[in-house]
Amino acid sequence: MFFGQCEINMVTIQLPDGSKQSHDSGATALAVAEGISPRLASAAIAADVDGKLTDITTPLSDGEHTVRIITSRDPEALEVLRHTAAHVMAQAVLRLYGNDTQYSIGPALMDDFQYGFYYDFDLPEGKSISADDLPKIEEEMAKIIDAKIPLQRVEMSPDDAKAEMKKIGQSYKIEMIDDMLKETPDAKLSFYRQGDFIDMCRGPHLPDTGKLGNAFKLMSVAGAYWRGDENNKMLTRIYGVAFFDKKDLAAHVERIEEAKKRDHRVLGRQLGLFLLDEKVGPGLPLWLPNGSIIRMELEGWLRGELLKRGYQPVHTPHIGKLDLWRTSGHYPYYEHGLFPTMNLAEGEGEDGYLLKPMNCPFHIQIYKSSQKSYRDLPVRLSEFGQVYRFEQSGELSGLTRVRGFTQDDAHIFCTPEQLEAEIESCVDLTKLCLATLGLDDYRVRIGLRDPDSAKYTGKSENWDLAENNIRRVVKKLDMNYTEEPGEAAFYGPKIDFVVKDCIGREWQLGTIQVDYNLPERFDLEYTAADNASHRPVMIHRAPLGSPERFIGILIEHFAGAFPLWLAPVQAAVLPVSDKFLNYAQGVVRALRNAGLRVDLDDSPDKIGAKIRRATVQKIPYMAVVGGREVESNTVAVRHRTAGDAGAMSVESFVEGLLAEKISRGSEPLHVAS
Ligand SMILES: [Zn+2]
Ligand SMILES: [Zn+2]
Repeated sequence: MFFGQCEINMVTIQLPDGSKQSHDSGATALAVAEGISPRLASAAIAADVDGKLTDITTPLSDGEHTVRIITSRDPEALEVLRHTAAHVMAQAVLRLYGNDTQYSIGPALMDDFQYGFYYDFDLPEGKSISADDLPKIEEEMAKIIDAKIPLQRVEMSPDDAKAEMKKIGQSYKIEMIDDMLKETPDAKLSFYRQGDFIDMCRGPHLPDTGKLGNAFKLMSVAGAYWRGDENNKMLTRIYGVAFFDKKDLAAHVERIEEAKKRDHRVLGRQLGLFLLDEKVGPGLPLWLPNGSIIRMELEGWLRGELLKRGYQPVHTPHIGKLDLWRTSGHYPYYEHGLFPTMNLAEGEGEDGYLLKPMNCPFHIQIYKSSQKSYRDLPVRLSEFGQVYRFEQSGELSGLTRVRGFTQDDAHIFCTPEQLEAEIESCVDLTKLCLATLGLDDYRVRIGLRDPDSAKYTGKSENWDLAENNIRRVVKKLDMNYTEEPGEAAFYGPKIDFVVKDCIGREWQLGTIQVDYNLPERFDLEYTAADNASHRPVMIHRAPLGSPERFIGILIEHFAGAFPLWLAPVQAAVLPVSDKFLNYAQGVVRALRNAGLRVDLDDSPDKIGAKIRRATVQKIPYMAVVGGREVESNTVAVRHRTAGDAGAMSVESFVEGLLAEKISRGSEPLHVAS
């Protein structure tokens, strides 16, 4: 009757099940949840509005929207929880250490094995936080949670935002606002206020601090440079983790404990595998005898697989003329990741030399050293090549981040027609490596160029070709993969294998890279069937990635208990007393003659102590010899985990071990008596 009534503003909602709701102007997603059920409304922590994650309390604009209510069961929810946890922690730190504490950044971490969030603080003069202070901060957080303080979103113009931050003396935030304005000058900035605490954040967050619950834990304190730059001030970073459920937190803490037990830096020392010595230099591991055996076995096996696949071995030096790296493009563009150039005295070399960061240019020169015809291709040159990269000292960690390491490298030079079959064969080899070591849980990531970045070399047509070659192969092999722009090498796109170890951590291991660009930069050629000169394509690939890193991960994966074929010592012979030493030496000889690695424990210790020692050293098999064994010409066999395997003849023991070694099994074989 009144036309005016038809113009009342309305919000129309479509829910995931297709049903619709109508609300008055200004309604929130919380009202939508209430319209479904009170239970859903109390479980609601955020909403997906038209595909965008938003606060449950943000008013919906007039018009039509699709709304999905997010509860703790949805995968997006954990990030909202952890974001809120970071804010609550910052509020607690300010309450305890004073309002002149500066806070810089505090993100949620979703892919980190250990941590779920952190916040960086610049504490007032004379104050500091150590691990001992964390329980006190947790207590203060619990008070904030109990108070169920609502989180309110506030939008401000950049000027108002800066004025607000100035008022509360938060200079890092002002710096961040200025940075943001450089990119988007007319940005509206969003802030979240919870009681007396305010923080600049995109959100969304939990509707109130009470929803954070009690499944959170502060885990450690570390120093962190502002913006990660060591010329800036060192801030105090507090790491924590948060879940919706106490059980999830307990499982997480248990996983971390398990990871500590498996730490390859600790096991590396205990088992005599490798050494990092400050006198040698950070990130330059020394391989001890036991670790060297693991490498020797792993590399020896891989060399055999390469020969079967038509690879040819080469060896190249550790340094080369700087100009070579100019041609490849590593220098000067990647100078920050290289060791400094070696400049020789005048007359001894017009240009400097460089420690090699990659093996490619040397292999390229080998390819170029003779005229190639299409009949010679593919040429597959392989080398366990030592390379050097100048990683930041703060980034170094055991064997997994080092400055000097080997690549199980090869470069394949082929015709464009051969390329996809060669990529496929590289995928096959990488899968074989992972399967052989029991690393069966992995995903595949395709690293593409970032179209907006200038760091890539070569023509865009070449990049299109290479990216499509890779896509066709992974599709043909029916592999699960994700594409990640910006993750390519500077000369070409790549396939990376991201492996999950037995406690759920992810590691990037094998890589396969397709490259049309270095053949151009180095002017590579072959004579095709048409007698004309053509350009080959290159593949750079490393199925393990690097033996250092790979073995570092294997140490943790196996918790130091390597399968028999890799174990530095495969069997320990343990005489019950001196009386049986002669017999024991005979057993040792029989095992050694069969090519097995054996230790004889001839110490005066009791047999129980000898067994314990061999177990701690994670030696797969023990052969105990005493009076009964000497009489029956047998050994009493124990496996380090499976326990007693009974008495058997020395010949059967040798045969059983050899069978397990050849199979490369990671589980003990049943040793026939
Ligand atoms: Zn936030
Ligand atoms: Zn290469």
